[in-house]
Amino acid sequence: SSKPTRSYSITLIPGDGIGPEIISVAKDVLVLAGYLEGIKYDFREMLMGGAALDATGLPLPHETLSAAKQSHAVLLGAVGGYKWDRNDKHLKPETGLLQIRKELGVFANLRPATVYSPLVDASTLKREVAEGVDIMLIRELTGGIYFGEPRGFGTNDNGEEIGFNTEIYATHEIDRIAHFAFKVAQKRRRKLCSVDKANVLEASMLWRKRFLAIAQEYPDVELSHMYVDNASMQLIRDPKQFDTMVTNNIFGDILSDEASMVTGSIGMLPSASLGASGPGLFEPIHGSAPDIAGQVGVFYFRFFSFASTDMLNNSTITHIQDKANPFATVLSAAMLLRYGLGEEKAAERIENAVMDTLNRGFRTGDIYSAGTKLVGCKQLGEEILKSVESNV
Ligand code: ATP
Ligand code: MG
Repeated sequence: SSKPTRSYSITLIPGDGIGPEIISVAKDVLVLAGYLEGIKYDFREMLMGGAALDATGLPLPHETLSAAKQSHAVLLGAVGGYKWDRNDKHLKPETGLLQIRKELGVFANLRPATVYSPLVDASTLKREVAEGVDIMLIRELTGGIYFGEPRGFGTNDNGEEIGFNTEIYATHEIDRIAHFAFKVAQKRRRKLCSVDKANVLEASMLWRKRFLAIAQEYPDVELSHMYVDNASMQLIRDPKQFDTMVTNNIFGDILSDEASMVTGSIGMLPSASLGASGPGLFEPIHGSAPDIAGQVGVFYFRFFSFASTDMLNNSTITHIQDKANPFATVLSAAMLLRYGLGEEKAAERIENAVMDTLNRGFRTGDIYSAGTKLVGCKQLGEEILKSVESNV
């Protein structure tokens, strides 16, 4: 690379459950891909979620938030677990996540739905429909009906109990997500589909009007509009028609889960949340998976395998202890490079490495199929590093 060495500060938040295992892999991948493209990092590892509650009594300690705000980007594992399942919201790990999103002012949530050809059979759709799907869904994250006032409970004129919410979008909220979406589309296949319900809802009518106006500034992007009911059908019928999609908070909540099932494997799906300025937040869409978390077991297994090679051969498959799939976090690290730091080459290097590792047959349990090679989280990480290095 001809660019001089660039240096970035990254806040790492491993969190709970499988968080530390997957963040450790993603960090190694970031370091190697960065090194090969002339990038250096200054990492700060911080507490959030259950781990932070245990250490400080708060799900988002002040030091974590200030480190995050001072860095160029934040890479998060996952938070939560049975141990902290409680009703008091001040004592919930997930509250930390909502707080950090709010504090960082991240109004755009990006969730790619990519079907990797070696994993096409994991899709809930037929092979010919799923093959080649590569969608970027952008959800407005800080406005709309989830935040609109007035909201609450009351009684109607008949004395009947009611619950009510309000959808409000101001022009500036629509304009900033629109500019954001057009710019993402420019980096992709230059097709942007805006999803709304402009035949019924006023907030959607303004949404559509603003998108049409802002489209004038992006003549290289082909803008289309779709009603949300039709879009939810088209995502299943023919997902390949979409490149970049953008929608409001509530429609995005629903469509992003639907789009994730088009790919079929939760362990493969990254996300990015970005604001107007300041650091973005990058995290896998899956949770902390406490049911499969287990670093202690890894050490035990390593020791045990030295002790008895015969036992190892007979029981490799059932005894893999670090079952977490790190791909979603590794792909979140690639999004961090592209959308957080503008380091396109290093991002591509990681994405190519993910594809190459899959092509070489390595799988964690959640994406395993007959004829592929089952490995644990750490070993998969080592294979991803080999692919990053060879960059095929
Ligand atoms: P949250 O409420 O935090 O979003 P959840 O409890 O709804 O999370 P996950 O923690 O995402 O759900 O786990 C759902 C299921 O998927 C679990 O059985 C879990 O083991 C599995 N799973 C999640 N992430 C991974 C991963 N990276 N690798 C392998 N399996 C995973
Ligand atoms: Mg959970």
